[in-house]
Formats: sequence, C-alpha cells, structure tokens
Amino acid sequence: MPADLGTSWNLVDSAHQTYLRWAGIPVEYDVRRYLEAVAGIEALGCARITDEELCARAAAVRDKARANALTSDAGRRGSTGSPRAPQRGSTPTRPALSGVEGLPRWGPRGCRAGDPATAEPVEGRTSHNALLDALLPEVFAIAREAAARLLGMRPFDVQVAAGVALHEGKLAQMATGEGKTLVAVLPAVLNALGGRGVHIFTANDYLARRDAEWMGPVYRFFGLEVGFVVQGMTHDERRRAYAADVTYVTAKEAGFDFLRDHTADDLGRVVEQRPRHTVIVDEADFILIDEARVPLVIAGSTPGLAIDHRRLAALVRELRRGIDYDADEYQRTVVLTEAGFRRAGELLGGVRLDRPEQNLLLSAVHVALHAEILLKRDRDYIVRDGRVELVDEFTGRVAENRRWPHGIQPAVEAKEGVEVRPEGKILGSIPIQHFVRLYPKIAGMTATAVPAAAEFQQFFGLTTVVFPPNRPGARVDEDDVVFTHRAAKTRALLDEIARVHATGRPILVGTASVRESEELAAALKERGVKCRVLNARHDAREARIVARAGTLGAVTISTNMAGRGTDIVLGAGNRQMREQVLALDGLYVIGTNRHESRRIDDQLRGRAGRQADPGTSRFVISLEDDLIQRYGVLGLTPRAHRPAPQTGAVDDPIVRREIARAQRIIEGQNFEIRKTLWRYSQMVDEQRRMVYERRQAYLLDQVEPDGCAEGAPEHHRALVEAAGPAAVRRAEQRLAMHLLDRAWSEHLGLIEDIREGIHLQRLGGREPLTEFSRQIIDAFAEMMDRVDEETVAIFQRLTAEGGEIDLARVGVGGSSSTWTYLVNDDPFSTLGTSLLASRTLTSAVSILAVMYWPITLVVTAGVLVRRWLRRRAQTEPPGEHSDEDRATKSG
Ligand code: ADP
Ligand code: MG
Repeated sequence: MPADLGTSWNLVDSAHQTYLRWAGIPVEYDVRRYLEAVAGIEALGCARITDEELCARAAAVRDKARANALTSDAGRRGSTGSPRAPQRGSTPTRPALSGVEGLPRWGPRGCRAGDPATAEPVEGRTSHNALLDALLPEVFAIAREAAARLLGMRPFDVQVAAGVALHEGKLAQMATGEGKTLVAVLPAVLNALGGRGVHIFTANDYLARRDAEWMGPVYRFFGLEVGFVVQGMTHDERRRAYAADVTYVTAKEAGFDFLRDHTADDLGRVVEQRPRHTVIVDEADFILIDEARVPLVIAGSTPGLAIDHRRLAALVRELRRGIDYDADEYQRTVVLTEAGFRRAGELLGGVRLDRPEQNLLLSAVHVALHAEILLKRDRDYIVRDGRVELVDEFTGRVAENRRWPHGIQPAVEAKEGVEVRPEGKILGSIPIQHFVRLYPKIAGMTATAVPAAAEFQQFFGLTTVVFPPNRPGARVDEDDVVFTHRAAKTRALLDEIARVHATGRPILVGTASVRESEELAAALKERGVKCRVLNARHDAREARIVARAGTLGAVTISTNMAGRGTDIVLGAGNRQMREQVLALDGLYVIGTNRHESRRIDDQLRGRAGRQADPGTSRFVISLEDDLIQRYGVLGLTPRAHRPAPQTGAVDDPIVRREIARAQRIIEGQNFEIRKTLWRYSQMVDEQRRMVYERRQAYLLDQVEPDGCAEGAPEHHRALVEAAGPAAVRRAEQRLAMHLLDRAWSEHLGLIEDIREGIHLQRLGGREPLTEFSRQIIDAFAEMMDRVDEETVAIFQRLTAEGGEIDLARVGVGGSSSTWTYLVNDDPFSTLGTSLLASRTLTSAVSILAVMYWPITLVVTAGVLVRRWLRRRAQTEPPGEHSDEDRATKSG
C-alpha cells in the first residue's frame, strides 16, 4: 500500500474543510478503515489460485448467498415477475412496485401511509445486510481477481476500498480517470448476489451500454445477468433489462419508466417488476444536482389551444422597446406598458386587452413577447432540423427532450417559423431527487463531491468519502488569466491555442455556450488551426470525438459537459503517440468561462491528468463574461482594485479572489434555492406516493374495492349476478384507477396554479410555504373524495352484456398515446430558474423576497390559461369523456 494512500486531506482546500466542519457536514478524508478492509480481502489469497478454483469459489459464494437470501427473506411474498430469477436464486422478494402495506389515509381501507421503498420489515433488512456484510470479503476478493483475468484490470487498493464505501451507502469521490466504472462492479456483484436488483445510473445512454458491455464478463462470471436500458428500447427489451440482476440505465430513463409504469392499466404493461432496491449513481453530482433541476414528465395528447401563435409572433415584432414594453434581460422580465396594451389591441384589430374577457389573449401576447425578447437563439435554444431545441443554461448543452412550460414553447416555435407542436397534458411528473430516494439503498461516485457535500448529506443522507488517486496526480492547475474585456480575452485565447497547437500538444477547450464554441472554432479556422467542435446530441458520437481529444495535434472545443464519463486516453491507444504526448506534458485543458459551480470547473480540469498522466488546466476569463456581469463581481471588488480596460491580463490576486468568492456565493444561493424548491416539492411527492400506492394496490389486485358495494349496493348486486364477482371487482378497480389518473393529472395542473399564485400570499403577510401546503392538502383531500364519488356514480352506469362489463362505454381503457419530456421548469423551479438568473448577491433571505418578481409574466399566462380551461371544462358533465376531452379538461 503506498505510504500516502491513507488520507486525502491535501486534496481539499482548507477553507472549505473548515466550513464543512463548522456546518457539521461529515466528510471522510481518512480512508484507512476502508483500506484495512482491502487487507482482509487480499488475505483470502485469490490471486494465486487457478481459474478453475476461482470459478468454484464464485459458484460456492453464490450458492451461499442464495441459501441465506432465501432464509432471510422467508415468510415474505414471492416474485411477481422475473421468470428467470428462481434458477439463479435472485428471487425478487417483494411484490412488484409498491406493496400494499401501510396505505395512506386515502387508501382503500384507510390504513397509514408508508414509504413504498422502505415498507420492508426492518428485521428482514438487517439480516439481509448482515448477510451481505459477511459475504463482502469473499465476493470482493473473487471479483477483483475475476476482473483482473477477464478484463485485464486488477482493481487497485483504492478502487476496492471505494467499493467497500459504496456498499456502505457512501458517496465516493474519486478523480476522473481513476476507474469508477470498475469500482461499482464490486458492490454491484455483492448486492446482486443477495438476490435483489441493483441499478447503476450512468450519465448518458452511451455509458449505460458501454459500462454494461465492458463490465459484463465479471457479472456473468458469478452467474449474474446484466442488462442496460437506453432510449428507444421496446417494452420487452426494457422488461428484460430490469429483470436482470444488474441494470445500467440513466436516471432519466429509469424515471420515465417509473412514471409510465404508474399509468399502466394492467400488469403486463409494467416494465419494472421488482421493487427498487440498490442504486449506485455514477457522476452523482451531475445526476443528483445538475440534472435533477429538471423534473421528468410524461404527457398525453391534447388538442392545441385556439391561439394563433404565428400571428402573435408577428405582432410582438411590431412593438417598440421602451415605448410599448419594458424589458430587463437579467431579471428575465418583460411587461407591456399602457401604450403597449393599446398598440397590441389595435394590431389585433381593435381588441381591448384590458378587458377581463381578453385575459387569455393578453397572456398569450405576453408569452409571445417573452419568447421574442428574452429567449435568444443560439444562447437559450438552437433551431435544428425544423425544431426548437433548448440549451441548458447550466451545461451549455442542447437539452434533449426538454420544453419550456406555459405555452412558451409554441411561442418560440412560432417566432422561429417552425412547426408548432402541441403541449400535451401532464400525466405524471417526478423530480429526479425524489425518484432516486425511492431506492432504500443509495450510493454514488463522482470526481466532484466535496463542493456539494452538504447537499448530498441533506438531500440523500449520503456521506462523502474522499479517496486519493491510486498514484499522485501530475496535473498542473494554473491560476486564472483575467482580462478586462471580452475582445482581449478572445485574442489571448486564440494566441494561446495557436501557440500550443504548433507544438502538437493536444488541447481541449471548454466553452459555456454553443455559440461561443462555434465562434471560437470559426476564428481558429481563420488562423489555420483545425479543430473539432462538440455540441452534438449523440452521446456516442460525442464520446468518440472526446476519446480522440488526447491525440497529437488535436484541438477539441466542447461545451463543458460534453462527453462526461468518456475516458480521454493520451495517444488514443497508440503507444508511440502516447510517448510523444507525454513529452509535451499531456493534455492541455482551457476553460473559457468560470461556471456557476466549482464542480463544473473541476470536471473540466479533470479531463487532464488521467491515471497520474501529466496535464495542465487553465481558465481564461474576462470581466465581461456573463457570470461575472450577472453577479456583479466588479461591484464586490474594492474600488482600488477595479482594473481599467486594458489589452493585457489583469495581474491582481484580489480580482481573482473576488471571482472565486462570487462563485461560492452563487453556489450557496443555488443550494438555498434548491432547498426551498425541495420543501415545496416534498409535499407533492407525499401526495404522489399516496396516489401511486393506491393505484398499485388496484393494479395488483391487492385490495377489494368496497366503495361501490356500499355506495350502490343494488346495482352492485345486479352486476355481480350478471357478470360474476371477479369481473365486477376488476371493473371497479379499473374504473377507480382511471378516475384516479385523471384526477391526479388535474391535481398536478392545479398545483401549478397554486404555486404560480402563491407569491401573492407574501404580499398579504402570509408565509407562502404554509399557505401552499394548506391549499394543496385541501385540494388533495377534495380530489380523493371526488374520485370515490365519481367511481360510484359512473359504476352505476355500467352494464353487463353477455356476462361482460363494457368499460369502454364509460370512457375507460384504450389509453391515449403518451410521450415523455423534461420541463425546463417544474411546478416550482420557475422560481428557481429566475433565482438562478438573478444577479442579486446578497443573502438568501432577500433573494427569496425578490424571487417572485421575474415570473410575473409567466404567472399571468399560466394561471389565466388554466383557469379559463378549467372553467370551460367545469361546464361539461363528468364521466363520459374520451381521452381527448380529458386532456382539454386539465389543460
Ligand atoms: P472514471 O469513471 O473514474 O473517470 P473510468 O472508469 O472511465 O474512469 O476508467 C478510466 C480508465 O482507467 C479506463 O481506461 C480504464 O481502463 C482504466 N482503469 C481503471 N481501473 C483500472 C485498473 N485497476 N487497472 C488498469 N486500468 C484501469
Ligand atoms: Mg466514469
């Protein structure tokens, strides 16, 4: 064991350590305990045995696990799926999805709420864990050896130690290129042998496939099955992949499948048949923090509103800034003036927009104005193949499948003259954080955990453990080079790239936006420097380009997240070239902007210096950069240190320090925002759980519905006589499920309305969060009662013909087509995003006070449209609606 392997204090900056200690956030720097476990594993001596012996030991440990897993799970319900499971002993131990134990107040028989994921008896869990702990040394020892022989990679001591930490449900911080993919295999094998499925979340589809295939031999060696799920897979393929012992999948796909499973009206359409158990989240900060800002949504079809987006798009172009409307790009607001009201009204052919009956139209005008003024092509979105595609402000990458809410999406489509696509009705939605928490056992790994250690601890109960690299890194992180204005920065960047490129040294440039990458590439081309630009959507192609970023003479320009998880091997496998690149000091990483969090900056730096290779990283920034402007960094800098515009770099540590400080404040703010949003979304999550549990109980036929027998006894009796008790029971369950789905979808819409109006409560002196909970709790209770009543009412219209109950007559069955997407703003994060866009740098409290302003416009639009829709819908009788009608109803 290398001498410096025991602790990793030196890897973390001391100010942050002090802060974490002060805040009581445990971060483990002393990894000796884990390394001692490695010594125990080595003592089992698997390295010296023959292949046959290794096989025999794997089989023996598997049998031992199986036998014990069965006893420790005895007495519990058996599998509802996974046909191949019994042969391998990986019998799923709980009924599919959430069980019926502990139904909420609104459960069919009025029991108490319980977390579906933790509904398992504590006793069973302890014995299960004790079993796994006992098996750990043996399993890790065999797996280590198997990896060495099958993959040609023998996990280093730190890797094995990190595997132990993962098994304990920790968050392992390991630098990029240290081999986290391999680390995850050890705990995954162990937990899968325990008989319960293991999911490994990867950062993208490409990695899900790559890792499953790459690590597959080790799993199979233990007789375990491995699968992966990627976009575009069929129902059967998904089902098979989830039934495997270990499944590689993105959090997004798994979350969408979860939502889809909870709209299925018979068990055959459910892809995930086992209860969620263990998840290991790779690139944990990316998935649990950055990506998690965007909730997953599944939507059903809905007819478009009668708004002519194109006409409005043309109209707002006629309006004049400062006369007809006032706009503030930083605060993200745009409002019509008095004159604007009149002008827009005239342009619409003499409409009085200030009249209440024109509210809907007025909102639509505002939305069109928002799209025209505040959203900029090639910054906020790009237009490609006749589609508007959002650019994630955080990662600078095109966000696949993401939409703006509240009619903004069609407004932008109209602005760009592309096809206006319908918005859809939300059938289900879940933030990734909540989804991940459905797993009783969560572990994670990433190169950048410490800056977000507090968040991991508070949201997921994950303790960060910092592992030192296997061999000390040789990367040099240079100080930032700061210019006063952008032109000087660009010139310096181009000079630096051209200079270094002339030596043949590979360069990776990380930019903040698609536009910036393209401008830089064009400028380099003019200088005769050939480069590759990465802003592709295709993970695989992206990965291929990034993988070649370490070759001689390569210049790769990418937005900062591109190719996360891809291994940049110097020389890309060519040994001679590798030597040449090593002689040139390895990969040179240049960042052209500081990002909103150190994690993102550190990820970029981490692309260099893989597995103790040499490398250099440096940020070249200007005081005109978006981030610095937006957060008024100059205002923070003491007057004496505010540099005058100059062509050379500013060589003042105070300026650099202020930039770093601003970044920390922003991080803190963003964390505060996420905490606030979390509080809001938690209540909705609770309700979602109740609805889903009740739904699952019906789907799995675990409860006898009793509402109709009590509410309409005569009709019930008559139907039972005509069709038999089983058919009536099934019909009632299907009907209740259908009505529950519809009510839930409407409830989601209502929550959005409440949330949008909630800021007004502050004006009335009330606490928004309290008011919000009160309202949604009332609405929920009302909704559940309504479902019960409607079920009985519609049940009375059911008839049995030829001994069969025809549900289609009352509009049940034949589910509408669904699709999935991510909303750029969830019911709460309109607040969040506007906060992120706020340049106020004061305390979180004042932030929360101002947070409600920037959304004024969206608020009007969203609320009014939905009110109007609901009012319209309320005039229709319930019950006999097709899906189309349903869609209109909830908007
Ligand atoms: P990370 O996810 O930590 O950035 P990867 O899992 O992509 O790292 O692995 C980085 C590189 O390290 C890969 O090329 C892999 O082959 C190599 N590697 C990892 N572990 C070992 C090992 N124990 N022995 C040799 N090479 C390894
Ligand atoms: Mg990785």
